[in-house]
Amino acid sequence: KEFRNNVKPNWCPGCGDFSVQAAIQRAAANAGLTPENLAVISGIGCSGRISGYINSYGLHGIHGRSLPIAQGVKMANKDLTVIASGGDGDGFAIGMGHTIHAMRRNIDLTYIVMDNQIYGLTKGQTSPRSAAGFKTKSTPQGSIEQTLSPMQLAVTTGATFVAQSFSTDLKDLTAIIEAGLNHKGFSLINVFSPCVTYNKVNTYDWFKENLTKLADIEGYDPSSREGAMNTLMQHNDLVTGIIYQDKERPSYQQLIDGYSEEPLAHADLKMDEATFDQLVKEFI
Ligand code: SF4
Repeated sequence: KEFRNNVKPNWCPGCGDFSVQAAIQRAAANAGLTPENLAVISGIGCSGRISGYINSYGLHGIHGRSLPIAQGVKMANKDLTVIASGGDGDGFAIGMGHTIHAMRRNIDLTYIVMDNQIYGLTKGQTSPRSAAGFKTKSTPQGSIEQTLSPMQLAVTTGATFVAQSFSTDLKDLTAIIEAGLNHKGFSLINVFSPCVTYNKVNTYDWFKENLTKLADIEGYDPSSREGAMNTLMQHNDLVTGIIYQDKERPSYQQLIDGYSEEPLAHADLKMDEATFDQLVKEFI
């Protein structure tokens, strides 16, 4: 309850993002966080609105730039748990450069992507997650591009927590987000979050028919990078659960001398007001 605010989400009835919002709120509570030590930073898109719907620090940033902002927040204040969030267009098209480098750095934050395989806010164009042949007003003859695999990319690029879920599996999704929040390093959680208004192919029923839970694959071991890649390829990426986790690799923060001391946000900069004003002017 403490992560709820009074803002009514401006999403279409039935949008998958409602469940993601609820799962984040529950996971944050389960992880023992309070609104004062959580920051939710989002990009642009329907799902980018989520930072306004959670009672925490929040910033609704610019398109594709949730990760640079989130990384800056975490570097400035280690005491905050930081969630970055947005849609597949935001993170895997315009923001993809940032996504790759945040994963490579293994910076300690949780990135939750609401993946509806279409651009919803701009009324239904093909996204990098749309399947080949997908017809929208931007690809009326069907997309001639291959879909992107964020999970395979994450496993090969250096993310140390790679997971996927489905928005209606609220219990599993909450547990995965909680595990991501507790992970020391970069967590990518891709959530299939259907757009009921514009995506008439990847519907709730479609996902129910096509998804396989990793928990149902006997002997699945998320510590094996090779096993993760093989499983993703065998199932055309349509799996849910923790796909890969490396608990040994130190996070970006753990490798920085002095980072574990006083957060920069609270540090005494030992600067008088005039010097501070001059410094600010140089950046304007
Ligand atoms: Fe959700 Fe699609 Fe509506 Fe956007 S357009 S709020 S993604 S259902």
